[in-house]
Amino acid sequence: MNQQELRSCPVCDGNLTQEVKLVGVEYKGVKFKYSQPGQWCTECGRFLKS
Ligand SMILES: [Zn+2]
Repeated sequence: MNQQELRSCPVCDGNLTQEVKLVGVEYKGVKFKYSQPGQWCTECGRFLKS
């Protein structure tokens, strides 16, 4: 085992997918978008880790 990977979401126990998602954030009234590669929960949409 050379890499520890999550199999399910620790929050909702949903399935995780390895993908790149476009994330929108708002900082001081200005919106930014960036690509965040990592593991995403298909249930709650939470980003787990890269
Ligand atoms: Zn989840």
